[in-house]
Amino acid sequence: MPDIIQLLPDHVANQIAAGEVVQRPASVVKELLENAIDAKATSIKLLIKDAGKSLIQVIDNGKGMSETDARFCFERHATSKIKSAEDLFNLETKGFRGEALASIAAIAHVELKTKQEHQELGTHIKIEGSKLQSQELISTPKGTSIAVKNLFYNIPARRNFLKSNPVETRHIVDEFQRVALVHPSIEFSLYHNDNEVYRLNSSNLRQRIVAVLGKKTNEKLVPIDEKTDVVTLTGFVSKPEYAKKKRGEQFFFVNNRFIKNGYLHHAVSSAFEGLLGHGYHPSYFLYLTVPTQTIDINIHPTKTEIKFDNEKVLYAILRSTIKHSLGQYNIAPVLDFNRDATLDVPYEFKNKKIEREPAITIDRNFNPFKNETQQVAKYPYKKEKQADWESLYTAIETEHATPEKKLFEDSRPSNKTHQIHGKYIISTIKSGIIYINQNLAHQRILYEKYLENITVKEAMSQQLLFPIEINFNKEDINLIEQIKQDLESTGFLFESINSETVIIKGIPTTVNESQITAILEQLLDDIKNEIPETSFSQLDIMAKSLAKSMAIKSGTSLNIEEQEMIVARLFSCKEPNHSPYGKPTFISIELNEIDKKFGL
Ligand code: ADP
Ligand code: MG
Repeated sequence: MPDIIQLLPDHVANQIAAGEVVQRPASVVKELLENAIDAKATSIKLLIKDAGKSLIQVIDNGKGMSETDARFCFERHATSKIKSAEDLFNLETKGFRGEALASIAAIAHVELKTKQEHQELGTHIKIEGSKLQSQELISTPKGTSIAVKNLFYNIPARRNFLKSNPVETRHIVDEFQRVALVHPSIEFSLYHNDNEVYRLNSSNLRQRIVAVLGKKTNEKLVPIDEKTDVVTLTGFVSKPEYAKKKRGEQFFFVNNRFIKNGYLHHAVSSAFEGLLGHGYHPSYFLYLTVPTQTIDINIHPTKTEIKFDNEKVLYAILRSTIKHSLGQYNIAPVLDFNRDATLDVPYEFKNKKIEREPAITIDRNFNPFKNETQQVAKYPYKKEKQADWESLYTAIETEHATPEKKLFEDSRPSNKTHQIHGKYIISTIKSGIIYINQNLAHQRILYEKYLENITVKEAMSQQLLFPIEINFNKEDINLIEQIKQDLESTGFLFESINSETVIIKGIPTTVNESQITAILEQLLDDIKNEIPETSFSQLDIMAKSLAKSMAIKSGTSLNIEEQEMIVARLFSCKEPNHSPYGKPTFISIELNEIDKKFGL
């Protein structure tokens, strides 16, 4: 037998490596940003076109590269950052594997311009699919600019595998935020299709967190500080009352590197034990500094997982420090010395909403004129309705003459339906019984209604006496601008949208004012996490998301009319059998199945 093993040509090896390092445009963003930081840049600009699919460019003012290095940096295992295996245990830089640029150059069109401080002219290199196209001298400022165009141009399968632009953009913004959050002193900007998404000035950590996640973040933060032999811990956790229904703003950084770690996450969650309602998650921004010898970063090509020597100790320290800080904040919130006064808005009152109107309690049995006519004084008396119900009621009320309403006016009261465990409505049909899940059914009803409103463009809107002002970060503001028109066709009316705040003067009649912020946050989240395979358009996602947020929840008790309304409206839907997310809205049990159980 002849020998059959041979070494892979470099460009093939690079493409294989690229499969691990570069999963999507965001991976390129991460590698380029990290290289700029390793090059000691103080100002870094990221330009993206078409969610990174056509262009990702990072421009830094760092130390630049010599002519030889500029050519050499695209070779595999070419790195200036480590020299020996021991160095792996003493990493001060973000990169060290020396394969990012080689991988990227194997699967894209790359253009590099770089110049060191003392050089008169810089180097300009073009490389495509690992092949050098040109190398010239160029007049360029100190630092490095790397433009990556047409990512995966030579791997169609990969390119087709990319998600929709909003999803890929979301990943890019995530990476950008993760890097920006650990380097507050570095100035960062991000442009997407020539629009400025972020401009972050050099600042302290708290200011940076606020600049990245929006002004309203400032008041949420509780500082964390602890120094022990094994770890120095700094950063912030959110006050329990600001916990969110979704994860999201949860960041661990270890030695200035963003990492994911379920075990440490658990430590944080457990520190919040007893403070959060079911299903709520704390936000956190935690910065751990540990001796470099006690961690192994080299366990995953993307370097987002780390192995710790003393995980258990870290768990205990994290948990107790956070618990302690939360306790302190509870006892004496004013002790928050780190709070940056310049970020505080002094007169918040104009935005303050009245949480609960002062209630007048009336003893309805008390009658001073007992012996006179039985007339009870009619004080304005407000019955507390359950928020979710209000939406169903109003939805029903606004549809004056729908046939099903007439139907019910005529046939009340009825004993055809029955609610069990606050979540299922039982009703009989000819062939047996059905169990309807009230939440899923209402989702379907609202979903079809919104779709119709959005497409027919005649939504009902209620004008607000006092417009609602909501703060968002820039990314969210951009999104809202994109979907403004569609939101308007569901009944939202905007007074203005500026760089950080949205002022809403009208809302859909089906919604309660107090729900607006949560509904919009959920909607933005859903759009950002859109998965194109399951949703055909943004409109559809919107209708789904709004329906999900506004549907009556399990645990809400329904009277007979309400139960019947659900049943009737569900079965006048186009697709009554499934919720907008594909879950069954009801199950049925045939009479003969029941008979069978009785042996009949
Ligand atoms: P690594 O970062 O693991 O060393 P890379 O492939 O990312 O590997 O980069 C290879 C080398 O190219 C780096 O070690 C560095 O010397 C050089 N380099 C890359 N980007 C820059 C930059 N923006 N400024 C200066 N040098 C850079
Ligand atoms: Mg690198």
